[in-house]
Amino acid sequence: MNLKFETRNVWQNVSDDERKEIFRYSKDYMNFLDRSKTERLAAKEIVRLAKEKGYISLEEKIEMGSIKKGDKIYYLNHEKSVVLVHIGDDLENGMRIVGAHIDSPRLDLKALPLYEDGNLALFKTHYYGGVKKYQWTCIPLALHGVIYNSKGEKMIVNIGEDENDPVFYINDLLIHLSKDQMAKTLADGISSEQLNVIAGHDAKTDDKDEKEAIKLNVLKYFNEKYGITEEDFQIAELEIVPAGKSREVGIDRSMIAAHGHDDRVCSYAALEAMLKLEQPQKTAVAIFVDKEEIGSVGNTSMSAKFFENMIAEILYLQGKKENILLRRALANSEVLSADVTVAFDPTFPEVVDQKNAAKLGCGIAISKYTGSRGKGGCNDANAEFLQTVRKIFNDNDIIWQTGELGKGDQGGGGTIAYILAELGAQVVDCGTAMHSMHAPIELLSKADAYMTSKAYYAFLK
Ligand code: MN
Ligand code: MN
Repeated sequence: MNLKFETRNVWQNVSDDERKEIFRYSKDYMNFLDRSKTERLAAKEIVRLAKEKGYISLEEKIEMGSIKKGDKIYYLNHEKSVVLVHIGDDLENGMRIVGAHIDSPRLDLKALPLYEDGNLALFKTHYYGGVKKYQWTCIPLALHGVIYNSKGEKMIVNIGEDENDPVFYINDLLIHLSKDQMAKTLADGISSEQLNVIAGHDAKTDDKDEKEAIKLNVLKYFNEKYGITEEDFQIAELEIVPAGKSREVGIDRSMIAAHGHDDRVCSYAALEAMLKLEQPQKTAVAIFVDKEEIGSVGNTSMSAKFFENMIAEILYLQGKKENILLRRALANSEVLSADVTVAFDPTFPEVVDQKNAAKLGCGIAISKYTGSRGKGGCNDANAEFLQTVRKIFNDNDIIWQTGELGKGDQGGGGTIAYILAELGAQVVDCGTAMHSMHAPIELLSKADAYMTSKAYYAFLK
């Protein structure tokens, strides 16, 4: 009997076949990332892949008038969040749920973003989520989103992802003139109002009196392509993200650099696990929510009741119309709050407790608690449920470890776990450990991404 616990390295503890699976899985995950640069695109991609596997929309099911064991149902909520449900035994006995988020830190355009100055046309932005603002300068950027033109047509904007597309750019100050800037803290080196996205420079005009020819030329481009005018920007949702595709990292191709690993790595892991399920014993659920990065507020976030409403609709279609059955279905459920955590980084060892930080390449990380400074605001999982999860993982050859989001006094962070816990269900944070969280391009291990999905599958089946 081994009295000491030792973390296991995935790369050293999988068979050659499973090693191939890690690389196969990572390829699929990278494809998903490249099609899912925003929460809307991720939601669309999740629904597309679910439909391929026989999922039917809740609206269609309501029209059909009944739901039975084995049915696979999706609900797309305002195009920004999705729930997948695979019906198992009686719902009131509880569900197995994996909940992840599909929004990531980014820059949003302001209502009236476009202006001209210094022979440039620029977009004003307001950042979304926790970002280190200086990281967003001097990198190629893409523009995504939705804008309605004056005819009321909904236009999907996507500029900067195709190799032949132009990209956008945010200036930083040249080092030669940065004496004052370099004396500032990293937090103040680039301010929110300096995150101005360069959108154009061509000043060609036939009208000698035109004072804003560059801005007008940018508007002309948008008008030709999308039929929009400047007024339409005011009711648009436009997001700036790093341009380009995810890339393999390391000479051994063992890692992935990409925008939005937080939390698309857990989202894709949950999606792949759901779509692989045959008949789950308990009803299996994957939730993909928006707005986690700004505190889970708004009608596309975990705080909105769309998930509960969906379960209520399903019960109703099963002829189970009493509210108590919904309460039981939720309270008897078991939930993995699927979100990323920090992995020990040898360049910044001082911010974590090395004995308790998750390690890159050592499998899915269970975090009993997150929060900050005395577990503030976190879901502190119960030992009884931790035992349930450990047993499932050990019985299914899951390589797992524990993690925590930094040293006690260093900071911390939250997830959607506490909202899921409000249902009365058992909940624990459980996801992929990673590096450079919330940077425009983040880093993680292919081994951990794969093991996350394997763990969710074991839990859901
Ligand atoms: Mn997250
Ligand atoms: Mn985050």
